[in-house]
Amino acid sequence: MKKHNFNAGPSILPREVIENTAKAILDFNGSGLSLMEISHRAKDFQPVVDEAVALFKELLNIPEGYSVLFLGGGASMEFCMVPYNFLEKKAAYLNTGVWAKKAIKEAKAFGEVVEVASSADTTYNYIPKGYDIPADADYFHVTTNNTIYGTELKQDLDSPIPMIADMSSDIFSRPIDVSKYICIYGGAQKNLAPAGVTFVIVKNEALGKVSRYIPTMLNYQTHVDGGSMFNTPPVVPIYAALQTLRWIKAEGGVVEMERRAIERAEMLYNEIDRNKMFVATVADKEDRSRMNICFVMAPEYKELEADFMKFATERGMVGIKGHRSVGGFRASCYNAMPKESVQALIDCMQEFEKQHTDL
Ligand SMILES: *Cc1c(COP(=O)(O)O)cnc(C)c1O
Repeated sequence: MKKHNFNAGPSILPREVIENTAKAILDFNGSGLSLMEISHRAKDFQPVVDEAVALFKELLNIPEGYSVLFLGGGASMEFCMVPYNFLEKKAAYLNTGVWAKKAIKEAKAFGEVVEVASSADTTYNYIPKGYDIPADADYFHVTTNNTIYGTELKQDLDSPIPMIADMSSDIFSRPIDVSKYICIYGGAQKNLAPAGVTFVIVKNEALGKVSRYIPTMLNYQTHVDGGSMFNTPPVVPIYAALQTLRWIKAEGGVVEMERRAIERAEMLYNEIDRNKMFVATVADKEDRSRMNICFVMAPEYKELEADFMKFATERGMVGIKGHRSVGGFRASCYNAMPKESVQALIDCMQEFEKQHTDL
């Protein structure tokens, strides 16, 4: 049976990315050696990093004066590296979910943190608006897509101070105005590559402004100077990321990724809104994520939740269980998600409705 992979992360990748990476693991560039057996400093591997960096810059239209880094540690490591490198006195954070909260916790170890607004009061089911950003803070930190709750900032905000963004789960799903940010980071395992590599886009001139000592490995400047080769980088995930970047380019770039994301999200939210048995957890359409589409059973059908899970699983749906803090269902629809899989989920929902209501 065909599987439809709605996993939240690690998650679906284009088939050719997996195939090309598998080939390189068996035989890298016809060298007779595996990608896993060669030095990251081998002359054949440097072009992989160079091309990945160049494609990041091209696809996201990154202005001059920014570096693209591939590091270890995951987005969670960036929660501490960001304040280490940028927080001198005060930073502003928007609290839109568990990931934002974890970033806030780390920042507090380095200086004053102003939480400009929070949607924690309603299990983060909306994006706060109408708050003030302190003009004297060093930066304003946002999580552009809240993977667990299914809310998303689909446009770059206006901020009086430079922004920093966790884009773990929506990178390359829309064009971004990188010039508004001094740093954009994320774990690769949602929209780019298998787990193990973290991407960081950093504005060079924003570095070196804090007065504290920064441990070598946690200092972005180390990795800017070393071209992500200060220590051994995760070569297999970087190779896979390069395949994804090539795929995005060949498919039409981030404009096309956004068009597809909008199309998939409209299909699925329309069905959730139409179907009597389901309710979207994010009511405000403006805040609804295109990447993680969360829904629960309508109150009168609550006891059928496990039944629908079984019904959908039997029809090939994978990974649609909602996060335990939200419950219900979450269909993660990252870049590689074909619209046929979204249609297959919609078919399940319609069939289930026919069986359980007198439509
Ligand atoms: C998954 C996720 C993280 C955590 O990423 P790790 O690479 O596992 O540390 C952080 N932020 C967001 C928005 C995520 O979706």
